[in-house]
Amino acid sequence: LFITFEGPDGSGKSTQIKKLADYLELCQIPYILTREPGGTEISDVIRSLILNPAYVGLTDKTEILLYAASRAQHVKQKIKPSLKEGKIVLCDRFIDASIAYQGYGLGAPIEQVKAINHYASEGLEPDRTYLIDISPESARERMQKRAEKEYNEDLDRIEQRKYAYHRRVREGFKAIRSENKQRICFINGDQSQDDVFKIIQEDFIESLKQ
Ligand code: C5P
Repeated sequence: LFITFEGPDGSGKSTQIKKLADYLELCQIPYILTREPGGTEISDVIRSLILNPAYVGLTDKTEILLYAASRAQHVKQKIKPSLKEGKIVLCDRFIDASIAYQGYGLGAPIEQVKAINHYASEGLEPDRTYLIDISPESARERMQKRAEKEYNEDLDRIEQRKYAYHRRVREGFKAIRSENKQRICFINGDQSQDDVFKIIQEDFIESLKQ
């Protein structure tokens, strides 16, 4: 079972994916928890290239191809072998993020973004996707609080983009959802962490039965 978590930055998806991982641990179900961009040593090097705020000159096409390169390595080296071993793969972001951020956000042709990523992932698709929705305004507020409180870090190169970009990304996620109603479980991220997790947990238990 290949499960992905998607949503704008600050939507709480990373917290939720950890909660689901803890639940799997408790049930003693074999799983791996991984993320994109990243997930392997090579993919993590690519991640640091993409997100480094110093690389202002990175072109849109380079960005798209770097995400796809990171994904190709991740799918081949980690995701597919883990699925083969019968593990549940929980992945923080996947192709939907490229369609939303680089396709809808940057305005790259959606079909081309899809094609590049189909090539990179060898056609691998998630079985279930939890998409947590949040407005760019509340997301920014959360991220700034988090940066002050926990990490004392600045926003990464993508997070620094303007609201208009993040609004397009959010609309992109909604469009992806309406094209993939069977696969995507859409959740309002303004609810409490526990309420969001309850929805995910119930849905996940149902998915296990299928
Ligand atoms: O999910 P996470 O916060 O680790 O993502 C790191 C950064 O990469 C975020 O700023 C996210 O918006 C961005 N990203 C992106 N396009 C993707 C995947 C992630 O712009 N396809």
